[in-house]
Amino acid sequence: MVKQKKRTKHIPQRTCVGCREVLSKRELIRIVRTPEGVNHDPTGKAKGRGAYLHDKVSCWKRALKGNLASALKTDLTEDDRKRLAEIMSSLEE
Ligand SMILES: [Zn+2]
Repeated sequence: MVKQKKRTKHIPQRTCVGCREVLSKRELIRIVRTPEGVNHDPTGKAKGRGAYLHDKVSCWKRALKGNLASALKTDLTEDDRKRLAEIMSSLEE
C-alpha cells in the first residue's frame, strides 16, 4: 500500500529590507506601493509591489535611507515619507 505523502506546511519567508534578516512573513510589517503612494498594508494582501520590515525603528530608519525605495522600485515622495514616518513613530525603539 502506498502511503500518502506527508504535507509539510509552507511558511512564506521574507526579508526585512532594513536589516536583511529572513523570517516568516507574519512577523514582518508589509509595505506596499499603490498608485496612491507607499503605505502600510495591515492585511498583507494589498495589490502592488511589497516590501517587508520589522516593527523596529532601527530597521525603518535604515530602510528609509534607500533600501525601501529600491525594494519597491520607486522613489519615495514627500507624502510617502510623511506617512512612513508616522507609522515609524508608533513603533518601539
Ligand atoms: Zn529588520
